[in-house]
Amino acid sequence: MGEAKQRKNKLLDAQVPCIFCGGNAIATTEEHCPPRALFRDKQWPEGYVFPACHPCNGGSSNDDLMVAFLAKLQPGANAETLNKGSGLMRMVHRQFPGLLQKMMESSAVEARAQARRLGMRPAPGQTYQELGIVNVTDAMDECVAAFAAKLSKAVYYQQTSRIFPVDGSIMFQWFTNAQRIEHGRIALLDGLAGLAAMSPPKQRAGKDLKDQFDYLYSQGENGELHVLQVVFGEVFGFVTIFSPVPGRLEAMEDRLKARAGRDDSPFRFLGDRTATEQNPGPPEA
Ligand SMILES: [Zn+2]
Repeated sequence: MGEAKQRKNKLLDAQVPCIFCGGNAIATTEEHCPPRALFRDKQWPEGYVFPACHPCNGGSSNDDLMVAFLAKLQPGANAETLNKGSGLMRMVHRQFPGLLQKMMESSAVEARAQARRLGMRPAPGQTYQELGIVNVTDAMDECVAAFAAKLSKAVYYQQTSRIFPVDGSIMFQWFTNAQRIEHGRIALLDGLAGLAAMSPPKQRAGKDLKDQFDYLYSQGENGELHVLQVVFGEVFGFVTIFSPVPGRLEAMEDRLKARAGRDDSPFRFLGDRTATEQNPGPPEA
C-alpha cells in the first residue's frame, strides 16, 4: 500500500472529526489545504492535509480551483503557461463561464488604463495584460474569502490541535499585486509588521515552497486571537484575524471603531457558508 493511501486509511479509521465545520461531522476524506493544484507540479507542502467531511471537501472544489488559478497568474503569466500540464484553464472555463473573458479579453482596455494609472509599462514584446494586474471579479472575491476561512481553520488546527468552533469568527481582507505595484508595498501587511509572528515551514522533501505560498502566523490574548498573513507568490494574498471565542472580534472591532471615530473597517466578517449554499463543484477526485 502506498504511503498516501496508508495515511488516508489511518486518518479515516481513527473516526476523527472534520476540522472545517466545527467538528460536528466525522471526516470521510482528506483535504489538501491549500489545494495541490495551486503548486507547481502539484508539489504541495508536507503536513497540509486535514480531515474533512465530504460536504466540506467537495463543496469547496470551485473555491480551490479559483484560488489555484489565481496563484498561477504570476506577472508575465500567459495562456500558454497557465495551460501547461494542469488543464486548469479548461476547468476554470467550465466552472466559471465568462470569467477568463472578463479578466483578460475585456480587460485589455482596462489593463492598459490600470497600468497607466500605476505608471507601468510592459517590457518589449509584452502586452499590458501580461503585466499581471488581476482584474478582480465578484466570483474571485467570493472564492478567496471561502478559501481564507478554510486555511484559517486549517492553521488553527495545526497550531492548537483544536477544531475551530462554528460560533468562532473570522475577519478577512485580501489584496492583489496591483496594490503592491501601485504603492510599492501592501499597506495592510505594513500595518501588521510590528506583530510578533512565526513562519511555519512550507516544504516538500526539503525544498522550500515559500515562493508560491507563504504565511506568518500570530497568536495572542491566551489563544483568543489569531492572525494569519498569507501571500501567494507575487499575485495576491490576504489577512485573516480569527477567534474561537464567540463575539470576541465583534467587540474588538466595536472598540476600534469607537476609538477611530469611524464606522467602516477594512475587514469583513466571513459568514459560514453551509455545504448546500456552496457551489456544487465537480465530484472529488
Ligand atoms: Zn465538514
